[in-house]
Amino acid sequence: MTMASSKESPLATALSQLRRAIDQLKLSENDWNTLSTPRRILEVAVPLRRDDGRVEMYKGYRVQYSTTRGPSKGGVRFHQDIDLDETVALAMLMTWKCALANLPYGGAKGGVAVNPKTLSMTENERLTRRYTSEILPIIGPERDIPAPDVGTDERNMAWMMDTYSVNAGFSVPGVVTGKPIVLGGSLGRTSATGDGVAISVREALKIKGINPHGATVAIQGFGKVGYWAAVALENMGLKVVAVSDVNGGVTGFKSVADIHKHLLENGTVVGAPGTEKITNTELLHLPVDVLVPAALADAITESTANGIRAKIVVEGANAPTTPGGDAIMNEEGILVVPDILANSGGVIVSYFEWVQDKQNYFWSADEVKENLNSILMRAINEVSENASSKRVTWREAANMIGVGRVAEAHRLRGLYP
Ligand code: GLU
Repeated sequence: MTMASSKESPLATALSQLRRAIDQLKLSENDWNTLSTPRRILEVAVPLRRDDGRVEMYKGYRVQYSTTRGPSKGGVRFHQDIDLDETVALAMLMTWKCALANLPYGGAKGGVAVNPKTLSMTENERLTRRYTSEILPIIGPERDIPAPDVGTDERNMAWMMDTYSVNAGFSVPGVVTGKPIVLGGSLGRTSATGDGVAISVREALKIKGINPHGATVAIQGFGKVGYWAAVALENMGLKVVAVSDVNGGVTGFKSVADIHKHLLENGTVVGAPGTEKITNTELLHLPVDVLVPAALADAITESTANGIRAKIVVEGANAPTTPGGDAIMNEEGILVVPDILANSGGVIVSYFEWVQDKQNYFWSADEVKENLNSILMRAINEVSENASSKRVTWREAANMIGVGRVAEAHRLRGLYP
């Protein structure tokens, strides 16, 4: 099956990467058939009563791509552009991501096609609760564990946990991760994805022989991932020279704290006093040591990859690079740390949260940090060694490990009946 398509879609990208991993691992067509098919898809209509009394319908999804290595796991996205194809693609990526980090999970993703910025807090709560009710039969701590993703945060997780618990008749904190601490959330979960991105940057700099002190980094996206990555990178001694959001990018700010303060007060990083405005594409092309795409899919494409001057690209977002963009970066000798490795800090600490909820025993912030570092370092070292020994890119090496683990689990479990 070739995935040649004139329109680049995250699903086409994910399937072509899977095909390559299957070929490189010399797996069979049976493996391709098994691994290229999502196991369970639920599409729901989510009615919302707006504050003014109007009733609107939104499309919601939950895709359980795989449950072979454990319950499925993955975020819930609120974004106007999501559709089933993208949700399947992201659920597939979660599957390889969890396997690569060796977490006892399959992969899932869900979401509602809505722009959360158009919702009041009460509307957001009603939509979250109704979406949770619609997918209730297929989620649960042993089945499928949602978490935050683009457009959702710990408030949404609190409402999801409450909706599930009210229906169960008792408190079930382990049904979602990324919850507020007082409801059974984990210390360190909020910053976990960004912390993992920073660890990936640190290790990639070592490999390229670049001193982190004074090394420069540009970050596309300044949300849950980009902001916390910026904080952690600045703490490691790097200089964050540019950040951006949907309205555009800026350079020339003094510190991450300064530009974050402007964002909190004004809703955008653009327009901070003393800064210069740049476009998102200009940000991608800045002469920096490290580029971190931490926004949405398809940021680095055949048309934008050409101007990239960074030596290292660390993918904070899911699927930010198209195959065309990837090929150009590889030709240029740019070290690309792929999404399923670079942004796995989030789901790794989600796993810690789920374990803590199961045991009703909560860890210190230091324990979370140490365990995140050791799990991620193990994955980074495995990918780096695999890339060198097989002479493949880091993306290929990461996919081979993730896909290989799921294929092996399939083989060992056998096919029922
Ligand atoms: N949404 C995050 C991701 O794409 C976290 C998922 C989770 O914690 O389950 O990896």
